[in-house]
Amino acid sequence: MSSSNPSSAPRADGRQPDQLRSVTFQNGIAPNAHGSTLTAWGDTRVICAVTVEESVPRWMKEQGVVGGWITAEYSMLPYSTLSRKARDSSRGKVDGRSTEIQRLIGRSLRAAINLEKLGPRTLWVDCDVLQADGGTRTAAITGAWVALALAVKRLMNEGKLTESPLEPAVAAVSVGSVGGRPLLDLCYTEDVAAAVDMNLVMNAEGKFIEVQGTGEEATFSRDELSAMLDLGGRGIRTLLDLQQQAVK
Ligand code: UDP
Repeated sequence: MSSSNPSSAPRADGRQPDQLRSVTFQNGIAPNAHGSTLTAWGDTRVICAVTVEESVPRWMKEQGVVGGWITAEYSMLPYSTLSRKARDSSRGKVDGRSTEIQRLIGRSLRAAINLEKLGPRTLWVDCDVLQADGGTRTAAITGAWVALALAVKRLMNEGKLTESPLEPAVAAVSVGSVGGRPLLDLCYTEDVAAAVDMNLVMNAEGKFIEVQGTGEEATFSRDELSAMLDLGGRGIRTLLDLQQQAVK
């Protein structure tokens, strides 16, 4: 096939359209956390750590809600981006994008755990971007699941849990339409060029937890949406396998 054909042109980093970047997990990166991993997706790197607090938020006590809670925080370290990103603490306000992403991470992980079985404790999920090259939210969710599974394992080893509260695993991936073709797991240059940008969060039963799909000054058809969902779904299955290998 001719390389001038847009559908066969190689991607900036030589990947196939349906190919993930190299995805790795380096566990135990933050020993004081109950579970932690440094996930690398090509040049995107995110530290994900889960810390257990043996209490629940006040609203749960006041409303008599049984079980536990998971909450997430996301930030980009100042040196993670091409030009330095000031810390929220120096700016005096939380970045709106970070707020949106940390709520997405929290929702995604709450789908991965039975909060009643977790018992009256809070899991703090901290995701800090060490290096950003597109797909930091999807790397954060996928890595956070690994940190969550490691934290649950530790709670079980310590005898604090007798039954695993884990539900089917959750992973996330980006998919987009670039130059008229669907591409899996966009890096930054592809993200900038994308006419459609999607983030999918799915579980090991093939069910959706969140679908974010946006036309960037562009529109997309139902067929294009289906193609992107199929591509993303295949990527998620690979990621779910990598997660299981990482927590073995
Ligand atoms: N980005 C950046 N500075 C920012 C926000 C984003 O450099 O303040 C870059 C970064 O590489 C990020 C990419 O833009 O991964 C895409 O950002 P987006 O908001 O789409 O989120 P992401 O793809 O990281 O989940």
